[in-house]
Amino acid sequence: MLIDIVTIFPDFFRGPLDYGIVRRAREAGLVTIAVHDLRAFAHDRHRTVDDRPFGGGEGMVLKPEPIFECIEAMGIAPRGGRQAAKHSVVLLSAQGRKFDQSVANELANMERLVLICGRYEGVDERVGRFLADRELSIGDYVLSGGELGAAVIVDCVTRLIPGAVGNDASTQQESFTTSELLAGDGPNSTCASGGLLDYPHYTRPADFRGMEVPEVLASGNHEQIRRWRRSTALEKTLRNRPDLLESVALSAEDKELLARSKGKQT
Ligand code: SAM
Repeated sequence: MLIDIVTIFPDFFRGPLDYGIVRRAREAGLVTIAVHDLRAFAHDRHRTVDDRPFGGGEGMVLKPEPIFECIEAMGIAPRGGRQAAKHSVVLLSAQGRKFDQSVANELANMERLVLICGRYEGVDERVGRFLADRELSIGDYVLSGGELGAAVIVDCVTRLIPGAVGNDASTQQESFTTSELLAGDGPNSTCASGGLLDYPHYTRPADFRGMEVPEVLASGNHEQIRRWRRSTALEKTLRNRPDLLESVALSAEDKELLARSKGKQT
C-alpha cells in the first residue's frame, strides 16, 4: 500500500511513523509512506499556500491550486475511477465523517491512500467537494492541523494490512472490531469483541502489591475464561461506551451476562 501525506509541515512526520508496527511494516515493504511538502506546489517566491477568506472573517484558508496540483502530480486516478483503482483521497477535517474502525478497514483495502492535512481556518471548500473522495474527522474536537489526524489514520490502517502485526488474528479480536472469528475459538485466540470494547488483559506477576489477577484466568478452564472475558467486555462497554451496545448483535448468553452486569451496577 502507498500512503501519500500532503502537509505544510513535512518534518512533523519524522518520529510518529518511525516506531513499532508502522516502522516494521515500512521496512518490510508492506506500506510506503511519502510525505509531500505543499509549499513545493506554490508559485511565488514566498511559497504562499494560504490566503484571506472570501466574505471576511478570521484567519487564513489553504488555497486550492497547490493542493490540486500536488494531487495531480502524484498520478492518482481521476475521481470517477478511484474506486476501481483502489485509490482514495481523504481530506482531514473537523467537519468530516468520524473516523472509526470500520472506516479503517475500508481504507486498509486501498492500494493508494492520500491524506490532505489542513491548517489555519481550514481548506478551500473546493478541495473537499471536487478533489477529495471523503472528509474524515478523528473526533469531535478542533486540532490546529490535520497532521495528527493523518498520523492516527496511518497507524490504524497500517496495522490492518495483512502481515503488519505478528498475528493477523489479533487485529480481528480487538475493541470495535466486528469479525467473522467469534467466541468459541477458545481463550488462546481469545474471543472476538464483535464490536464491543476489548476485555481486560493481565500478565505476570499474579500478585502485584496485593492487586491480584482474577483467579479464573489461571484456572486453565477454557470455557470459564471465555465466559469471563465476554462478561467483562460487556461490563466495560456498558460502563464506558453504552452507545456501542446499540449496534452489537448480542447472543442469548450476552444478554444474560449483561443483565447480571446491570444488576451489579445498580
Ligand atoms: N475552522 C475549522 C472548523 O471549525 O471546523 C477548523 C480548522 S482547524 C484549526 C485546521 C485543520 O486542522 C483542519 O483543516 C483539519 O485539516 C485539521 N483538523 C482539525 N480538527 C480535526 C479533526 N477533529 N479531525 C481531523 N482533522 C482536524
